[in-house]
Amino acid sequence: MAEPVLRIEGLSKSFGALKATDDVTLDLRPGEIHALIGPNGAGKSTLIKQIVGEIAPDAGRVVFRGRDLAGLDVAARARLGMARSFQVSSLVPDLSVLENAMLAVQGASGASFRFFRRALADPALTERAHAHLEAAGLSGREGTRADALSHGERRKLEIAMALALRPQAFLLDEPMAGMGSEGAAQLGDMLGRLRHQAPILLIEHDMDAVFRLSDRITVLVYGRVIATGRVSEIRANPQVRAVYLGAES
Ligand code: ADP
Ligand code: MG
Repeated sequence: MAEPVLRIEGLSKSFGALKATDDVTLDLRPGEIHALIGPNGAGKSTLIKQIVGEIAPDAGRVVFRGRDLAGLDVAARARLGMARSFQVSSLVPDLSVLENAMLAVQGASGASFRFFRRALADPALTERAHAHLEAAGLSGREGTRADALSHGERRKLEIAMALALRPQAFLLDEPMAGMGSEGAAQLGDMLGRLRHQAPILLIEHDMDAVFRLSDRITVLVYGRVIATGRVSEIRANPQVRAVYLGAES
């Protein structure tokens, strides 16, 4: 089996007496969508925050592309290719779709924003920005201002901008939240393609989407992993049915 891109071992984090994550171990393999599910408060978001370096774990380690990330901050982990959930706030509302993508490409190349005008005239950077927009499904929308995009299109632009960072893994905390069913379906299709570029650890509430998109599923309850496996195994797991599906309905 191929080496996992990301491996977390025994990650634990308490808030006072509450164990938000409790000895969590899982891996993310090349090309897969690995869903992390569980009832509200199970510790899913806390786990992602420990992986990206936003919260320091009490115990355990995160190994990314063969490297122990202990001591690395959020920015350093992002530079290694950890692509966090797409963040709407990173869009510049009064710039066009292409200009926003150019900002991301330029930022990823390490250049200063002061030279943005020069970057806009650089054919190599423009070409890369167009390629990312095409991959994200935004061809034909290059000239539209970011603030004129629909919610679903903004998500696509965020994906295009994330691609500029040459991601090695996507860590997505409920990326479909707030989207209509059509937008969510489109995003689902896109995730199905993106995983070939970099595997995806996906937190998602919509169980239909999870079952449709995932290669593997890990179930977290009260901070602990109660099951990991392929979709068919998780569907059939009596403990998952009792604890998780029971708690959700
Ligand atoms: P999920 O994303 O699975 O819904 P979270 O990771 O957000 O769960 O939260 C797990 C538990 O930890 C919850 O009980 C939540 O209230 C608690 N929690 C999360 N963040 C903090 C924090 N910064 N301080 C105290 N408690 C927190
Ligand atoms: Mg959460």
